[in-house]
Amino acid sequence: MSGPGIVVVGSANVDMVVYVQRAPALGETVAGERFTRGPGGKGANQAIAAARLGGRAALVGAIGDDDAGALLRDALTAAGVDVAGLRVSTEPTGSAHIVVDAEGANAIVVVPGANAAVTLSDEDHARIAAADAVLLQLEVPLGVVVDAATAARAAGTKVVLTPAPVQPLPDTLLRAVDVLVLNEHEARGLTGQDDLDVAVEELAARVADVVVTLGERGCLHRAAGAAPVRRAAFAVDAVDTTGAGDTFAGALAVARAEGRPWPEALDWASAAAALAVTRAGASAAMPDRAAVERLVAAGDGA
Ligand code: ADP
Repeated sequence: MSGPGIVVVGSANVDMVVYVQRAPALGETVAGERFTRGPGGKGANQAIAAARLGGRAALVGAIGDDDAGALLRDALTAAGVDVAGLRVSTEPTGSAHIVVDAEGANAIVVVPGANAAVTLSDEDHARIAAADAVLLQLEVPLGVVVDAATAARAAGTKVVLTPAPVQPLPDTLLRAVDVLVLNEHEARGLTGQDDLDVAVEELAARVADVVVTLGERGCLHRAAGAAPVRRAAFAVDAVDTTGAGDTFAGALAVARAEGRPWPEALDWASAAAALAVTRAGASAAMPDRAAVERLVAAGDGA
């Protein structure tokens, strides 16, 4: 297979979603309308996005010796993700328990399970060193994320970090990051700054390229030494925005690793994410390369 080498070090969860009219209060029981179970976790989602879009993607992570683990392995393999670095832990597969109400608002409980047991082996370090880019999020232990980022930086592999769920980040991590991809809530949460412009400047002082996603309002790119640039989103009928950010990050990594210049790479990622929101589910909704090329060519974006 050709295409850039993308290694994702991150989480794999089974997403268990119940759809209700109204979410129950504590102590209350309500009837649900529908239940779905599918692959999720930011690591698995970003790996699937990158693979669908033409990257040679691998996931380094951990699952349990259970049905949920088998579901994830199958979904990753079907998408073309290399799972040689996906280890089976004695802990159960991580799970996200999601309640979605009639307005589309959600409440989520995540049980890390096997994700808390992720470690990096010598083979994983070799995978990272051989890759064009490594994609990181914060759903596996922070020490593993720091280790992966510093190993990548030392080997000349580009580091793309989505700092979610938000938590304080050590300087050693930010110093090793090339591209920070985060939504506006994460930008505010990470810096403690309510003003998004101030938050972006604070992040840009520490990371070369900061990309803030703004949902249907598109995204903003702040490159070192340059003014922030806004790109519009592609106009689509949004059905389910789950996984939009992960699709964007996976697509951006593939586009940059292929050598596309920033404006083109941002539009490519925006088109991929726009297509992902037109269908229900996270990884199930991720588009392939041909669909992204068609939408970019149709030029409904910036
Ligand atoms: P997250 O899923 O992390 O909260 P966003 O909601 O900012 O991230 O979405 C990520 C990207 O997905 C956006 O920058 C945009 O390109 C695309 N996107 C999200 N929602 C829509 C939408 N309603 N229409 C078109 N594109 C969208």
